[in-house]
Amino acid sequence: MSKFHVRRAAVLGAGVMGAQIAAHLANADIPVILFDLPAREGDKSGIVLRALEGLKKLEPAPLAANERLDRIEAANYDEHLARMGECDLVIEAIAERMDWKLDLFARVAPHLKPGAIFATNTSGLSIARLAEGLPQAQRDRFCGIHFFNPPRYMALVELIPTAATQPEMLDDLETFLTTALGKSVVRALDTPNFVANRIGVFSILAVMHHTARLGLAFDEADALTGPLIGRPRSATYRTADVVGLDTMAHVINTMRDALADDPWHAHFTVPAWLEALIARGALGQKTRAGIYRKDGKAIKVLSLETSDYIDSGREAAPEVLEILKLKNPAERFARLRASEHPHAQFLWSIFRDVFHYCAVHLGAVADNARDVDLAMRWGFGWQAGPFETWQAAGWQGIGAAIAEDIAAGRTMAAAPLPGWVGDGRSGVHGPQGSWSAREATDKPRSTLPCYRRQLFPDRVLGELEPASATLWENDGVRLWVAEGHGDVPVLSMKTRGVLTQDVVEGIIEAVARAERDHRGLVIWNPQPPFAYGADLKGVLKLIAAGDFAALERFVARFQHMTQTVKYAQVPVVVGLNGMALGGGCEITLHSARAVAALETYVGLVEAGVGLIPAGGGCKELALRAARLAPHSANNEVFPFLQNVFSTVAMASVGKSALHARELGLLRDSDVVVFHPGEVLHVALGQAGALAESGWRPRQAPRGIAVAGRAGIANCEMMLVNMREGGQISEHDHRVARAVATALCGGDIDAGSLVSEQWLLDVERALFVELLKQEKTQARIEHTMRTGKPLRN
Ligand code: NAD
Repeated sequence: MSKFHVRRAAVLGAGVMGAQIAAHLANADIPVILFDLPAREGDKSGIVLRALEGLKKLEPAPLAANERLDRIEAANYDEHLARMGECDLVIEAIAERMDWKLDLFARVAPHLKPGAIFATNTSGLSIARLAEGLPQAQRDRFCGIHFFNPPRYMALVELIPTAATQPEMLDDLETFLTTALGKSVVRALDTPNFVANRIGVFSILAVMHHTARLGLAFDEADALTGPLIGRPRSATYRTADVVGLDTMAHVINTMRDALADDPWHAHFTVPAWLEALIARGALGQKTRAGIYRKDGKAIKVLSLETSDYIDSGREAAPEVLEILKLKNPAERFARLRASEHPHAQFLWSIFRDVFHYCAVHLGAVADNARDVDLAMRWGFGWQAGPFETWQAAGWQGIGAAIAEDIAAGRTMAAAPLPGWVGDGRSGVHGPQGSWSAREATDKPRSTLPCYRRQLFPDRVLGELEPASATLWENDGVRLWVAEGHGDVPVLSMKTRGVLTQDVVEGIIEAVARAERDHRGLVIWNPQPPFAYGADLKGVLKLIAAGDFAALERFVARFQHMTQTVKYAQVPVVVGLNGMALGGGCEITLHSARAVAALETYVGLVEAGVGLIPAGGGCKELALRAARLAPHSANNEVFPFLQNVFSTVAMASVGKSALHARELGLLRDSDVVVFHPGEVLHVALGQAGALAESGWRPRQAPRGIAVAGRAGIANCEMMLVNMREGGQISEHDHRVARAVATALCGGDIDAGSLVSEQWLLDVERALFVELLKQEKTQARIEHTMRTGKPLRN
């Protein structure tokens, strides 16, 4: 393990990036001192104090739990520079100006703690030039650390060393970023805009170029460059609006100024229409108008013909959609290229020019092709990077097509493809590594020890999947062991997070096998979600058939499954990532321990479809409250139920694993892991450690004290107010009363002692009763059809 510890960090600059980077350090429980210029009036740390207020309101939320704000102290360069000496890591994130950064470095350098790491978040300034702002002796602990916006959510961080940077310092920083902050690191070369922005912004320029050349509308180009080709919904122009059109222009100008020798240099210009938008203050989302503008409910888009906003919503042509549906990527690209439809021509052209650009520049901008592909996935949200897309479509064929288009003058620049493209290879990625044009060799993955914690890292095309052996499977699950982890098998679902009957039976079987042959069990899915909840489609079918007896049997079996998980003779650990909703949350509540990626959204959301948790969820929460009751003054259960009642009745979902803990849906003993790729490693370790410490399932008391009808009455008071205030409908009220009844153990005296089975029977009966209600049925049907909740 790394011996580098960040006891305290400083962030310089409380702007968009600085404040959010500080927030993410705080998420990781690292005390942070956040600096900015002294305010002219009032508190000298006023700029930072205002930035901290802003963090609470920003969407998507930079803080994973509001209480983490407390880890950030506000500071200014006039009063607090000496405190820099307390910090092991200092990240500079002030405005993108070389002279300002150099001035600040000179002021800060004398106060840095010996051995501290000092890093700059510049988007594209030369790191070597910036290093010159530091005394010689401090340059070996300096590098670039390029976060993407928003830093909590964007996986990518580029690390950029200079010739003077200590290699072991970079290793320490990469380890810290990966495990402590959950980021995915690419080491970049010190070239303008580094890797992801260099390629990503070129890709945007290529889209702009071909949009204009083919006379497409902006929304038409967005329809073609979003999910249809494996890119984010915001596609190209909407992304520009989100980033800010002024920022976009700034980045293009940086490319123009810094890349005079680039063969594509003629294209590094801000188009006249973009200049015009900026000149009239239409900067995108932050000014409510940019390339798009919201008019009431309608979204309008700028038309270049009329220079006004017109209705948006243009779609890809059906014949092009047909081509994109083709399974074989080689055929898909060949058909796009051959088609005369402007949409097809557009798509072929933007792919071709990006492939061309990446091939020509690979040697200059990145160590190897894997770094380019992963940077585009992690930094721009592309499903596949440019090189793997090219390779999947047939390396030689695409290479020949590009060469033909270059010769015919159809490409954006005339630069020839580098020789290695046509050296007979079938791609740039293979089991032996990924092509490095600068070293003319294939480079394997990093061997930094922190990557041993990622048993199944994000792979590029052509890389081998790590070995695993299947022990048993049915249609819903696979029980398997990872290489070197034979003592704790893993159960993974095949149902994309739907808890079908096969999944329920599969878990019961897996527990039996783990008890027989192993020392623990982990439930984990290679891809998020962990679970969306029970199989509502199956439920609807049974409702349509009027078979409520079968429905009750399914619920009873689900309860049996969660009890099996809870009382397993070996620890059952769940590894969570993405959604853990409904039944997925209930499995979690019954597990020996949960290991959750920070970005896990946990919730008992049954009320949203007019139901209540009945897989033991209400029972387990009632039981936990009963365990806490002896700690209250009057031995009362209800005070420990009040918060969970609102959480369940309102179907609230934790906005992070830390927030889920605040809601009482994860326990203090559950582990939060920042990198989603490390969840399985930690879960296997936790199962082993629990087994090693002599695991025994914790028995419920034979008599569980419940809040009873007094508790239900308390909940009812809250509900009546909400009903009268128009916040909830009559059916919401009915569902919430059922939640209250299940959590309070039914309509019996407060303080009555009941068994676990009693609680299970109460929640199951209420569940089946609700299923018979038309409004609940309408909610389920609506949610299945639209993916959205119905308020009725
Ligand atoms: P910003 O304008 O939101 O914040 C800049 C901060 O710098 C402000 O708080 C300001 O008070 C402070 N500042 C201005 N002049 C200063 C000076 N002379 N000395 C000290 N502090 C000064 O900018 P931002 O978007 O947060 O960008 C900060 C850095 O991060 C830049 O280097 C930028 O290129 C980089 N970056 C930005 C993004 C992004 O999407 N915004 C993404 C990655 C990296």
